Amino acid sequence: MKPRMSCEGCKNRLDGSCAGLGGCRGQQDEPLRVEIVQACRLLYERGLIAGFDGNSSVRTGRGTVLVTPAGVHKGLMNPRDVVELDEARGTAIDGRQPTSEISMHLAVLRRRKDIAAVVHSHAPTAVALSLLRNVSINGVLPELAIALGEVKTVPYARPGTDALAERVADGLERANAVIIEKHGTVAVGGSVSEALARTEMVEHAARVIWTAHQVQRPQRLDEAELRVLMRRAP
Ligand SMILES: [Zn+2]
Repeated sequence: MKPRMSCEGCKNRLDGSCAGLGGCRGQQDEPLRVEIVQACRLLYERGLIAGFDGNSSVRTGRGTVLVTPAGVHKGLMNPRDVVELDEARGTAIDGRQPTSEISMHLAVLRRRKDIAAVVHSHAPTAVALSLLRNVSINGVLPELAIALGEVKTVPYARPGTDALAERVADGLERANAVIIEKHGTVAVGGSVSEALARTEMVEHAARVIWTAHQVQRPQRLDEAELRVLMRRAP
């Protein structure tokens, strides 16, 4: 069958398999959509988000971004729920409602041309640490220092606002994960799974620090050793 170039769905999949119905765009993106759905389910099942919380995005490689929708339970999503947006304009291709944190995802993706995916969670222990001025996630665990360097806490800004989007984009300009004060985490990566792994790493480290603090203040790594570890951070 000859490709149907006039079909919106076929313009990126030139085998005519959508028969002019426009379904092939979704077929082409299916692995990315499935990865987002699986990441959201893992975030939900591991208690890093609750219900409608959290959101994820990934570049398709053709100027659009796949992003989680607004108002959908992240443990019960399916690939067709994922919304496709024009990255430059920030508008949904199919007119559906993306996550309320879409400005944050777009700000981070525009600032970081080297990454493909953004994962935002409400990781509870990381949020709990952000409420305490005298407790830091950094300087104690060598694996965290090697993998993520210093995990900074972005000062509070109202959820869903451009102010929050810019603060998070600033924080991620030279880092792959941040904690948002009173709110959650944002991690980036070359794929959804990499951003998800970084999210889990932040929450796991936060749990260790939190647990140690129940007994006493955790001992920091030797400063010279910490500097060597941080040099290995990406
Ligand atoms: Zn949030």
